[in-house]
Amino acid sequence: TNVDKSKRAVDSKKFEFPEFCPECGSKLQRLEGEANHYCLNYNGCKPQIIGRIQHYISRKALDIEGLGGETVTLLVNASLVQDPADLYTLNIEDILPLDRMAQKSAENLILGIEASKQIPFERVLFGLGIRYVGETVAKTLAKHYKSISALSEATVENLEAVDEIGIKIAESVYAFFRNDNSIRLVSRLYSYGLQLELSKAALANQTSILAGDRIVVSGVFEKVSRSELKKLIDANGGKVVSSISAKTTYLVAGANMGPSKRQKAEDLGIPILTEQSFLDKL
Ligand SMILES: [Zn+2]
Repeated sequence: TNVDKSKRAVDSKKFEFPEFCPECGSKLQRLEGEANHYCLNYNGCKPQIIGRIQHYISRKALDIEGLGGETVTLLVNASLVQDPADLYTLNIEDILPLDRMAQKSAENLILGIEASKQIPFERVLFGLGIRYVGETVAKTLAKHYKSISALSEATVENLEAVDEIGIKIAESVYAFFRNDNSIRLVSRLYSYGLQLELSKAALANQTSILAGDRIVVSGVFEKVSRSELKKLIDANGGKVVSSISAKTTYLVAGANMGPSKRQKAEDLGIPILTEQSFLDKL
């Protein structure tokens, strides 16, 4: 039978990537080692600009009160903002003319932007939107390097040596700090007074007493809450893991811990600590 060539041509077209960005019309580029094509028009592709700022202000990043995703779109469309750092140049007179922007909400927005200068380093780092750097990775990097200047100088090998950081993340972080747009963004954020290093308080509470320890926390505690307990482990260099395995260093057991967890710890010979005996270690 004959192959219907005209039909196949139509079908195969479906699998071709578009050559140009449907949003801004610039030629799409395929990044090395990746299947997808990307629009690299950093400063001129509106959905990218809006997305970057929306990520920056999101709850787990800078969490700017009084600024929602729709307002970001208005700000970008009015050419008031095209980079997260531009937020810090806004004043009330700039934003009052925006659609449905009352005096009170304009004031709140400016206050919210100002307050974001106190947001801790790891959340600013997350807010930068570095590829593959999610909330947890940002925390790990902030804790390890302690400042953005130290992080920006790290080599790929150095980054990869950090616990939990693989080659993909290492290369992405390295590339970010060698990109003109991101260098400019970081130095502007620095000049506006954002937290780009761990605070003295965060540094003071950090020890390496539990370095290398993999700790399971289970049950209900009396002196500290479960999340405080996890923070203590984190601040002292330990790692909270969710399930018991042969690699677990010990289990911190509170009240009402599930019997199967205790059984598993006993079977594997994992030490079981009470809340008090754990706190005594610190
Ligand atoms: Zn584009």
